[in-house]
Amino acid sequence: MNTFELDKTYVAPTYARFPLEIVSGEGCRVKDADGKTYIDLGTGIAVNIFGYNDEEWKAAVTSQLNKFQHTSNLFYSEPCARLAQLLCEKTGMKKVFFSNSGAEANECAIKAARKYAETKKGKDNYNIITLKNSFHGRTLATLAATGQDVFHADFLPVTPGFLYADANDIWNIDALLAKYRVAAIMIEVVQGEGGVMPLDKEYVLELAEIARRYDILLICDEVQCGNGRTGEMYGYMNYGIKPDIVTTAKGLGGGLPIGATLLGPKVEDVYKPGDHGSTFGGNPVVCAGACSIVSRLDRALFDSVKAKSKIIFDTLTGKPGIKSVSGLGFMIGVETEKDAGEVIAKCREGGVIVIKAKNKIRLLPPLNIDEDTLKAALDVIVAAAK
Ligand SMILES: *Cc1c(COP(=O)(O)O)cnc(C)c1O
Repeated sequence: MNTFELDKTYVAPTYARFPLEIVSGEGCRVKDADGKTYIDLGTGIAVNIFGYNDEEWKAAVTSQLNKFQHTSNLFYSEPCARLAQLLCEKTGMKKVFFSNSGAEANECAIKAARKYAETKKGKDNYNIITLKNSFHGRTLATLAATGQDVFHADFLPVTPGFLYADANDIWNIDALLAKYRVAAIMIEVVQGEGGVMPLDKEYVLELAEIARRYDILLICDEVQCGNGRTGEMYGYMNYGIKPDIVTTAKGLGGGLPIGATLLGPKVEDVYKPGDHGSTFGGNPVVCAGACSIVSRLDRALFDSVKAKSKIIFDTLTGKPGIKSVSGLGFMIGVETEKDAGEVIAKCREGGVIVIKAKNKIRLLPPLNIDEDTLKAALDVIVAAAK
């Protein structure tokens, strides 16, 4: 059997895969089993932020691999401690819990918020407000946090204790706070799976103020929009707010699985030994790779992302067949007159990989893509949307 047949026979069919088998990658490009190359503007869903076969990341990973591949959290190891230091220094957060995915990073944030609220305000303050159209993961608690009924439907009951507010409607938050006791508000400043929609700046500032006033924790889910993608270290930094908890994953590991929950001053001591844990969390190989990624996320890179983002907006906005362009930095949603799936397939024929978010085409280019490659890819998208 070939790979398609093996996969269809033996892998649980939870994904609607594109008819394309990736065999190798170099820089911004991947090669399929037929030898065709593509410019990849999907980056494994915002994961490979420095593209494929990145020498610095590979050197960091292999160097640690040659020392030891895993210990357990019963012991200390340097890459984990170093990565936590880097993340705290870049954000002003105080402590980091490491896990293996975005959903786990959010689980850790949810548990931290519940414990903080119970300790500080007493029982029954466990509710967490999330936004409609959000996406926070696939475990039962993060599925409950995800404000989209379609994801809940076949898996009820999901974890109780979540309330849903309309994005950009502060009255809706006030109404929920008047009725329920709330531990935290959890947001993505740029909703990714929900259609690449940045929240309004004024709304986010008001949310942060309400959270501060009522001692409600503000959790920013930076799983997709974090790690330089929006042209800042974390997406919330575009808004000038200071969340109490930041969760991140995807791009942080440069391609290896990692989740991180960053705890600010209010919650840095909320967890005690035995409260939470993970066998693989803080894995030394993964953390060594992540250190090489995070240490390169600097102002010069962010400014280049912002400049190249402008090229994307300027090139696509108003072109025939393109209804709207939304997003921030290198997280962009393109609404087309034609069905998004059709445009995505046409892009693939033209040698460009893009992915979907709701009814939109989603672009998540590698942060270090060069301008010529980016422009070549945009030409293909413009032609496909026409
Ligand atoms: C992808 C994503 C998650 C889930 O991450 P996994 O690593 O797939 O568990 C959570 N939140 C947001 C905003 C995401 O984009």
